[in-house]
Amino acid sequence: MSTARRRVMAGNWKMYKTQSETRAFFAAFLPMIGDAAHCDVVMAPPFTSIAAAVEAAKGSRVAIAGQNSHWQKEGAFTGEVSPQMLVEAGCTHVIVGHSERRQYANETDDMVSQKSRAALAAGLTPVVCLGENFTERETGKTQEVLSQQFIGGPGALTAEEFSRILLAYEPVWAIGTGRTATPDIAAAAHRFLRQCVRDQFSPEAAAGLRILYGGSVKPDNIQGLMAQEELDGALVGGASLDPKWFAAIVNTK
Ligand code: PEP
Repeated sequence: MSTARRRVMAGNWKMYKTQSETRAFFAAFLPMIGDAAHCDVVMAPPFTSIAAAVEAAKGSRVAIAGQNSHWQKEGAFTGEVSPQMLVEAGCTHVIVGHSERRQYANETDDMVSQKSRAALAAGLTPVVCLGENFTERETGKTQEVLSQQFIGGPGALTAEEFSRILLAYEPVWAIGTGRTATPDIAAAAHRFLRQCVRDQFSPEAAAGLRILYGGSVKPDNIQGLMAQEELDGALVGGASLDPKWFAAIVNTK
């Protein structure tokens, strides 16, 4: 594990867990992680369960995140939620540019940068996701795609804004498929992204940026992934739904 960058273990519940399921999760999960002093812990429930999560996590070190937010403070945007609304609900983080939103809600790199900027202005920490799909990897386009997503998305922020984000490398072919990137594949992508940060911003920005890996992280592969100096934590979908599994992931040192 990197000594300079504090690890972040984040869960993304996607469209799972009602309010009562959220309360049950935290009642089981919190005693299993103790004070989790070695890392930051973040959980992103669906919007309707945020209040229950904030209440259940009160007094713990678990931060609560939205899974998405708009770039405007308010307006005629049916179905959307603003970063200010997330802050008022008790969130400190928000996931931006998740591949499922890119795929199903047509989110573009430009939207990712606008959403990140708005989230930062509201005081949230954006967890900005990017990653190549299966065809792009198979045809040797991984670096091209990562570079494009980076430059058009988080790379379009100012250096000051950029210093306050978290990046998540999530190869689409590994999300929800059970096919995790090997630690070496993940580390190579993180190294490449750090090079993009160096080119766009500075060596200091690259050295300080925390990059999480996401894609079928489970208790039985987290150790190998976290042994890579380049990986500063994980963004966990499916395995974050089970308190025992997510606790095992958080507790990995
Ligand atoms: C995710 O939703 O960001 C994710 C990585 O999902 P999973 O862990 O289920 O692949």
